[in-house]
Amino acid sequence: MTTFLFDKIIFGPVKSRRLGVSLGVNLLPDDSKFCNYNCIYCECGWSDFSEKKILPKASEVKLALDNFLKKAKQENNPPDVITFAGNGEPTIHPEFVQIIDDTIELRDKYFPKIKIAVLTNATKLHKPEISTALQKIEMPILKIDTMIQEDYEFINQPKGNPQIRDIADAIIKNFEKPIIQTMFIKANTPERKFDNTTDESLKKYYEVLKEINPSLVMVYSISRATPMQGIEKCSLDCLNKIAGEINELGFETLVTP
Ligand code: SF4
Repeated sequence: MTTFLFDKIIFGPVKSRRLGVSLGVNLLPDDSKFCNYNCIYCECGWSDFSEKKILPKASEVKLALDNFLKKAKQENNPPDVITFAGNGEPTIHPEFVQIIDDTIELRDKYFPKIKIAVLTNATKLHKPEISTALQKIEMPILKIDTMIQEDYEFINQPKGNPQIRDIADAIIKNFEKPIIQTMFIKANTPERKFDNTTDESLKKYYEVLKEINPSLVMVYSISRATPMQGIEKCSLDCLNKIAGEINELGFETLVTP
């Protein structure tokens, strides 16, 4: 399997499939993945929960971002969005809150109109300081791949024993009209079969979307190699069908095949 890792704190800007011209910020190690999930489709490969990781300091992130934005200002070439993504889950960085505050300060200084996005698995929303930090930005993009607990444990393989219902409740409690991101795949693996596009799975998923009341639902499928073998991309027809059903619930969608 070929994994895909970002080797710097700041990467891009790249033309993102979902966000436009996106300046990426990687708060995770530059040579390996660090996440409290182990999604079977993760383009960064498998997680190793046992390894101790070295993360960039908040001061290093601020300096790298300042340098980039200063140059972009001189060249009058702003990105559309500053996106926290990279090699794992940004909210597990111990200085995440400080980094968000620094990023808002730099954004306001150089390009007040560009947005800040965080791609997150939403597992840290029970921590008030993390929720508050995410509420300060324009685009908290929160992952829910399924509402069936057994399927959640298979597709996301979370560390510990989190309940997807608790994560959904934390989203509902802390956010008005957030952005939800959902990976749709089928898997036929030696361990089991998986499909989060079945009627049963979608019924539970649509029910929670009605509770969350999102401003946007990002509906997408894999675009790179996956760590688990036997994973099948969801077709564009399938994604469009799901998006149409979400639209009928009254929510906007963005489909990325
Ligand atoms: S939450 Fe994101 S970074 Fe973490 S394992 Fe899943 S896809 Fe990879």
